[in-house]
This record gives sequence, C-alpha cells and structure tokens, in this order.
Amino acid sequence: MSTETQKYTRNNPYESKMLVNYVLTDRDSEKETRHIELALEEGMAYTPGDAVGIQPTNRDSEVEAVLKALNFKGDEKVLDFFKKEDTLDNALRTKLHIGKLTRGSVNSYAKIAPESVPGLDFLKSLAGQDNKSRAEEYVWGREFLDLITEHPGGITDPQQLFTVLQRLTPRMYSIASSQAKHPDAVHTTVRVVRYHTHSRDRQGLCSGHLGERADEGSTMPIFLHANANFRLPEDTETPVIMVGPGTGVAPFRSFLQHRQAHGQKGNNWLFFGEQRSASDFLYKQEFEGMLKDGTLTRLDTAFSRDQTKKIYVQDRMRESRQELWAWLERGAYFYVCGDASRMAKDVEQTLLDTIADGKDCSPEHAQEYLNDLKKQKRYQLDVY
Ligand SMILES: Cc1cc2nc3c(=O)[nH]c(=O)nc-3n(C[C@H](O)[C@H](O)[C@H](O)COP(=O)(O)OP(=O)(O)OC[C@H]3O[C@@H](n4cnc5c(N)ncnc54)[C@H](O)[C@@H]3O)c2cc1C
Repeated sequence: MSTETQKYTRNNPYESKMLVNYVLTDRDSEKETRHIELALEEGMAYTPGDAVGIQPTNRDSEVEAVLKALNFKGDEKVLDFFKKEDTLDNALRTKLHIGKLTRGSVNSYAKIAPESVPGLDFLKSLAGQDNKSRAEEYVWGREFLDLITEHPGGITDPQQLFTVLQRLTPRMYSIASSQAKHPDAVHTTVRVVRYHTHSRDRQGLCSGHLGERADEGSTMPIFLHANANFRLPEDTETPVIMVGPGTGVAPFRSFLQHRQAHGQKGNNWLFFGEQRSASDFLYKQEFEGMLKDGTLTRLDTAFSRDQTKKIYVQDRMRESRQELWAWLERGAYFYVCGDASRMAKDVEQTLLDTIADGKDCSPEHAQEYLNDLKKQKRYQLDVY
C-alpha cells in the first residue's frame, strides 16, 4: 500500500501497541528524549521522510482538576464536535484541548462569561488584533485550568466547553526507522516537553503522554503521514548531507537504515548536535557502528555544553566548508531537520556562506545557487 492511500487516517487512526518506550538520554541530561517503537498492522507502509501522527489524551489529574474548578461531576451528558453524545469526563480526557491556553479560548470565554466573573473586563480587553501582544503575554505558559481558576464562574453549562476549547488534535513525529529493517513497526524519537510556569509544573500534551502513560504493551491511536517533500534522492549513489541536531536526527536514522538495508552506495554525511556528549548523544552506538561499517561516510558532532564556548552544528559545517562545497559540487542533497526557530536559519546562513566561499561569489549569487538547489529538490527541510 502506498503511503498516499492509507487505510488509517487522522480521523480513523490505528490502535497501535507500544512495543518499546525508553529514555535515550542519560539521567544527567537536562532533557528527556525517548525512543519509541509502535506496532503496525500488515499493509501499513511508510517511506523514509514520513511522519507518524499520535493521538494523545489528557491526564486524569488535569481532567479532575478542570471538573473541580468548574463544579461539574463528569457524568454530565454533552454533544461532542461531531454532535455525538458523550460524558463530560470522557470528552475532557479524549476530545477537548485543555492544555496550552489559546487567545481564541480566552476570547470565547470572555464572551460567554456572566458579568460576575472576576477580572472579566481584563479578559475582554485582550480581544482584537490591536491587543494581540497583550493577549499573547497572558496566555504564555498558561493552560485552560489557569483561566478558570483565576477567573472562575465563566462556564455554567458543560456544553459551553465545546465553544471555548479546541479539539484535542494529534501530534506529528518524524519517523526514525526504515521498514526495510523493521517491517512491522514505526520508530520515533520524542523529546518530552516539561516546564514550570506560573507556579505549576507542566508538560506537553502528547510528549507528556508518551513520557508518562504509554508503557510497553499499552496502545495509542496512530496514523502514517506521507511527506513527499522530504525524500532520499532517487539515484541511490547520490551523496547526502544531513543536519539533524536533537530529535532532528530521527528521519536521518530512517534514511541511513534504508540505505544500509538496501546496500545503497551513495555517501552519507551526518551532522548531529546536542548539549553534552556523555548524556545527550542520541543513538550513539548505532551511528558509530554505521561509521565503522561504512554506511556513514562522515559523522560530525557538536556538543554545545562540553566546552566553555558553545559549538553548534553550523560551527561544524563552517569548519568543513571546503569539503561541504566539494560534496555539493558532486551533486549532494542537503537535508535539515529539527528546530525551526533558530537552528534552521543558522544552518541556512552557513550553507549560503559555504556556497559564496566555494564559488567565490556574492551573497546574491549564493542565494541563486541555493534557489537552484531547492528547485532540484536538493535542499529539503523538515523543521518544526
Ligand atoms: C512534521 C513534524 C515533525 C516533528 N517531529 C518531531 C520529532 O521527531 N520529535 C519530537 O520530539 N517532536 C517532533 N515534532 C514536534 C511534536 O509534534 C510536538 O509539537 C511536540 O512533541 C510538543 O507537543 P506536546 O503535545 O508534547 O506539547 P504541547 O502540549 O503542544 O505543548 C507545547 C507547547 O508548550 C509550550 N511550552 C513548551 N515549553 C515551554 C516553556 N519552557 N515555557 C512556556 N511554555 C512552554 C509552548 O507553547 C509549546 O508550543 C514534530 C512536529 C512536526 C510538525
């Protein structure tokens, strides 16, 4: 079955068994990054570069706290987003997004709240485009529970929650395995989001679920999601350069497993970065093994906190500019996966500098060269 014609979809997910779920990072790490393996039904197929969608549920403790704050019991009947009857308790666990607060939820809450709600004028003052930055400031680090605790009494009928809150939606994770090696499973690499804001410990909805309540043997609804814009070159001998710090390394594990399993001859160069080598080197043994058996031609690592001066993947790229340029001139494909906010921009700038240096040309001409790479699908991004 091709990845474009999946039987299981976002609205009809597959109830997949959790086969493996362990922490990749060391106890001393500031992060918790997990390796996860989920079972696939026969016929479910993916291609390296694809993602897996995982549908999480809210924590029981959060659901209870919301029910308590709203003075509801949980057995109240509600009509869900598809007008299907459900209990409030189940809807709060599986259908309503009670996590990270959105500006939209604050606006809707302020609109339906009775005048007696404390601080209602303040909430109303956050509406509209002109007040966007103040509203952003208010919702930052807050969840729905904060809103109904700080401004209680706004919800008088359980059904109103479907006006105020959004749907609980799946989260996407880059696939970290190749079916050539693991026909019946999909692997992924998940960083568990945890933070402390406004006097409470918080966690990401889906990564928190995977980190806390997804023991081996339990099940989770999943679906495979094709990404035609992140693909290995068709010519198996074409060299590839992969830049994947942190969980950004996931699709490159898939690429490498694929090329290894099929005995493909193209050269592979991986840049990996994290905070510390001792605690954060994800899949260290596997990648070092690939270096030994020749699957990886080069493995360059950047551990930012291992020395006083921070070193990132783009610094490693800069150190090897001539070699990078030589690979590009040999037709190499260049891939970036991971953090969209800073890393991808810094890597792109370094790539532009590499081109300008290699071609001995102006920044404008380097940009044209990069645009050509994009047109030829030789520069592909999967950033989030
Ligand atoms: C195509 C694609 C591929 C992806 N691949 C991967 C992957 O391979 N591995 C991976 O781990 N993730 C990946 N992601 C990200 C992933 O989908 C989720 O967004 C991520 O796991 C967080 O989701 P969550 O439900 O755990 O957190 P959510 O409940 O969505 O919460 C995350 C939000 O919490 C808030 N937050 C986080 N930290 C803080 C803080 N310190 N202070 C205040 N607020 C904070 C932020 O607003 C943040 O947006 C990918 C995303 C996409 C789109």
